[in-house]
Amino acid sequence: TELSRIRNFSIVAHIDHGKSTLADRLIQSTGTVADRDMKEQLLDSMDIERERGITIKANTVRIDYKAKDGHQYVLNLIDTPGHVDFAYEVSRSMRAVEGSLLVVDASQGVEAQTLANVYQALDAGHEIVPVLNKIDLPAAEPDRVKAQIEDVIGLDAQDAVLISAKSGLGIPDVLEAIVTRLPAPKGDRSAALKAMLVDSWYDPYLGVVVMVRVMDGVLRKGDRIRMMQTNAVYPIDKLAVLRPQMVDIEELGPGEIGVFTAQIKQVRDTRVGDTITHERKGATEALPGFKPAQPVVFCGLFPVDAADFEDLRDAIEKLALNDASFSFEMETSAALGFGFRCGFLGLLHLEVIRDRLEREYNIDLITTAPSVVYHLYMKDGEVKDLHNPADMPDLTYVDHLEEPRIKATIMVPDEYLGDILKLCQDRRGIQLDLSYAGSRAMVVYDLPLNEVVFDFYDRLKSVTKGYASFDYTITGYREDNLVKMSILVNDEPVDALSMMVHRDRAEMRGRAMVEKLKDLIPRHMFKIPIQAAIGGKVIARETLSALRKDVTAKCYGGDATRKRKLLDKQKAGKKKMRQFGKVDIPQEAFISALKMD
Ligand code: GDP
Ligand code: MG
Repeated sequence: TELSRIRNFSIVAHIDHGKSTLADRLIQSTGTVADRDMKEQLLDSMDIERERGITIKANTVRIDYKAKDGHQYVLNLIDTPGHVDFAYEVSRSMRAVEGSLLVVDASQGVEAQTLANVYQALDAGHEIVPVLNKIDLPAAEPDRVKAQIEDVIGLDAQDAVLISAKSGLGIPDVLEAIVTRLPAPKGDRSAALKAMLVDSWYDPYLGVVVMVRVMDGVLRKGDRIRMMQTNAVYPIDKLAVLRPQMVDIEELGPGEIGVFTAQIKQVRDTRVGDTITHERKGATEALPGFKPAQPVVFCGLFPVDAADFEDLRDAIEKLALNDASFSFEMETSAALGFGFRCGFLGLLHLEVIRDRLEREYNIDLITTAPSVVYHLYMKDGEVKDLHNPADMPDLTYVDHLEEPRIKATIMVPDEYLGDILKLCQDRRGIQLDLSYAGSRAMVVYDLPLNEVVFDFYDRLKSVTKGYASFDYTITGYREDNLVKMSILVNDEPVDALSMMVHRDRAEMRGRAMVEKLKDLIPRHMFKIPIQAAIGGKVIARETLSALRKDVTAKCYGGDATRKRKLLDKQKAGKKKMRQFGKVDIPQEAFISALKMD
């Protein structure tokens, strides 16, 4: 395809402002997908994405569009995730395209992730077309939101396109704006091949699938290609574009986006950000690579059934291929046996990976307390990274600890401002800034990441009834008075529940934990003390009283099938438990105990 007839773009927006719905309309109105095959949020292909209504993986679709100028255009759309945990996916797909549609809900206005995402698009050098969505809603205020886009983002919003992605109103204007207002890609067809590896994933039928954006040169079926970082060579055996399902194609020229398979066996050979060139007469200089994503939250994942360990390893390796921001290494725990210590971009990312392992790979998992990465300064001068509170050495060898801090930007309607300030204060936050954008306050806080990873986002949503938005960046490390808190169940430490806490908050945290655990651990035939301790000192204690009656006593009478059903249920429930000494702890306990109310 002629460069001047190609437009590559992404859609950026705050979550729920209507990216996926707009993508659906663009796909549908151009006849890319037949009406009978159309379903809502077509590009959100993972079950979890559909259930939670959020986009996690960036997805791509190639659209043919005949513009008003009479020419036929190829539009490549990359739908991006909007949640703060997936900012890395966003920055990656931004590099593969030249422009962005900035979707803002006309009844809500600019939110924290609108800002974060649009700045990423601007950093990537994008041309941006503002699109005001949901103008069908009575609460829509397009003029106010236009002014806000100009004030807060500093983007000309005079010619913003007004649409309702839901009803289809304004969709033809969006298509014309893509063609007339976004730039065509640049590239040299006769130069040596340079293609950027944008994404790769594992397909059960095709094996490793690689998505590329060609910058220069031409990629053809049958070509022998070389990955410049790893120097591995492969013959291309399938070359396709996504509509959104794969449709084979003979070649991809400059500016085009597509996928290939090449019998790639080694998961590690596809590095996102790598440059792909031809084996012979290839490019000598690689494209600038991507910044590797830094996992900020770590936790242990262990199979409930030790026999599932190899399956878990296999599943984790496959998921890691699909998600460059997820890291893992083997871990052993006294209580939980063999498992993996995994790194994530945030708590939602963690939950999504855990869900996918359980659902797509059918493995029951125990998740240990999430922890951030601490810098440990030893008395002998050594500096170490601490990913796991269980590895915390004896305090007599430790000089001091540093923890990661973040700069959090929160946008919130005026009436909830007080609650937000209190929440941030309670989490050891330091206020940096407070300003107003219309009737919404924008507060900036310096916060310890440790206080944010567990449930900050949930709390933020609940105290503001979902009206606050939140975004953060990690700013650096700072010393503080942090200690390791251990949890003892029936006098035995459960290493998987130990956590790092601030000294001043340890008692409060410890008390909350033991109270929660008391509710989460089923009663046994004997009394079970549940304690929180720092070093040898117990700071909180609860006792779970002994069970008096036999539970199966409930199923008296003659209904044998009902009895069998109950017993089966108990068996299934048992499988999800883990024995600690003589005590069974259900897997929910490991994550629920950490959430504070
Ligand atoms: P995303 O998170 O940005 O991908 O947002 P979605 O496309 O999933 O949309 C979020 C919600 O807003 C869904 O319930 C949509 O049905 C709804 N929605 C999207 N566009 C419109 C619109 O133009 N008008 C109205 N009233 N609702 C819309
Ligand atoms: Mg979406």
